[in-house]
Amino acid sequence: MKILLLGKNGQVGWELQRALSPLGELIALDRHSKDYCGDLSNPNKLSETIELLKPDVIVNAAAYTAVDKAENEAGLSRLINSEAVKTLAQSAEKINALLIHYSTDYVFSGEGEHFWSEDDQTSALNMYGKTKLEGEQNIQTHCSNHLILRTSWVYSTFGNNFAKTILNLAKTREKLSVIDDQYGAPTSAELIADCTAIALVQTLQDKNKCGVYHLVSSGSTNWYQYTKLVTHEAQNNGIELALKELNAIPATDYPLPAKRPYNSKMNNNKFKKTFNIELPSWELGVKRLIKELSIK
Ligand code: NDP
Repeated sequence: MKILLLGKNGQVGWELQRALSPLGELIALDRHSKDYCGDLSNPNKLSETIELLKPDVIVNAAAYTAVDKAENEAGLSRLINSEAVKTLAQSAEKINALLIHYSTDYVFSGEGEHFWSEDDQTSALNMYGKTKLEGEQNIQTHCSNHLILRTSWVYSTFGNNFAKTILNLAKTREKLSVIDDQYGAPTSAELIADCTAIALVQTLQDKNKCGVYHLVSSGSTNWYQYTKLVTHEAQNNGIELALKELNAIPATDYPLPAKRPYNSKMNNNKFKKTFNIELPSWELGVKRLIKELSIK
């Protein structure tokens, strides 16, 4: 089996390099790759690459992920998250490949307190969410064999994320204020990559498994409680912190350029049931992350 991975150096892309490599011949590209084009801002070259390589599976971990910057860079965000994804979908269809793509909790409005399911109404609040939703729709329109895996609050030891940022702040600041009224599930890039590999194999065997799924850790939390676990685990693992006071604040006290949903909780039952997979609670992976960071 030949697998083409795009965005190999992002948080998820990095873990996918590990998780996908035992499955077959893995060609992993990033936007700077020289032998083949892995640049999503160059859709023509990208489709040439796909038609030349003819992979059985395309896994797209590349995305425009700068949520606040996207408000002022709508064109670039749309090019990468929507238009390039349409090209990927059309090229995958042409060569009859399975296309695996990641999407986000930000496709939802964030109203209510329920866990969003896959067929709930989407309504993105910000430009990043809107362009990711367009990407999903482009895949559904143009590519019959696809997995769209919506995830949330991604972290890993590799790359930038909330947990690492908060840990670094806690090392130098005595006081921090963190939002406590936005809810979701921190999900590790490791878990996403491992589950992708399992879902990939099963979907190749049974095309009925194609579709949209919520691939997130189980349970939910808010940014304040998440910070409490990060700092608590840091202390447990001997990481020296300057932090003495952690305050909970409403999101209205921390305005950002892009609106965020209050309720980003996603129901992961469909993914667990279809692929017969357990998705562990969010705390488990965060504890592993801090342990790993403590020995670096
Ligand atoms: P990262 O930001 O860590 O990685 C994104 C990757 O995309 C980077 O390596 C980046 O490269 C690459 N990229 C950006 N522009 C291009 C381009 N023009 N051509 C090729 N590659 C490009 O994101 P994650 O790994 O965290 O995200 C993976 C997926 O999960 C994405 O689809 C994202 O939308 C989704 N997701 C992420 C969440 C999160 O909290 N991070 C939450 C929900 C969903 P470079 O480093 O060179 O810019």
